[in-house]
Amino acid sequence: MLVCSECGAVMEDGSAAKVREFAGFVGEEGAYFDTAVCPRCRRDAVTEGAVCSRCGEWVPEREVEGGLCENCRKRAEEEFSELMSCSFTPQEREFLQELLDSCRLSIV
Ligand SMILES: [Zn+2]
Ligand SMILES: [Zn+2]
Repeated sequence: MLVCSECGAVMEDGSAAKVREFAGFVGEEGAYFDTAVCPRCRRDAVTEGAVCSRCGEWVPEREVEGGLCENCRKRAEEEFSELMSCSFTPQEREFLQELLDSCRLSIV
C-alpha cells in the first residue's frame, strides 16, 4: 500500500495518480517523465506505507517505529507516565527508575 505523507490518503500500489512533467528536449522530441502524485491532494508526497500494530492505520513507513505510529507512541508514553504517577509515590518511582537504569527491572 502507498500512503500520502501530506494528507494521509491510502492507495493500492500502482494506483497513485500520475502527472506528466516536461523534462526538456532531446533533439526534436520533448522528453517527459511521470511523477506519482496523491489522487486526493495532488502533491508529490506518495510514499511506501506500513500498518501501525496498535491502531491498524496505514501511515508512511518512515513514521513507524517499533511497529507503532507516532500517535500510538505518544499515547503509550502518556499512559505509562499516568499509570506510574497514579500507582506509585515519587519515592517508589525513583526506586523503580533506578531498577530500570541498572537493568534489574524490565517492562518488556
Ligand atoms: Zn495527499
Ligand atoms: Zn497507531
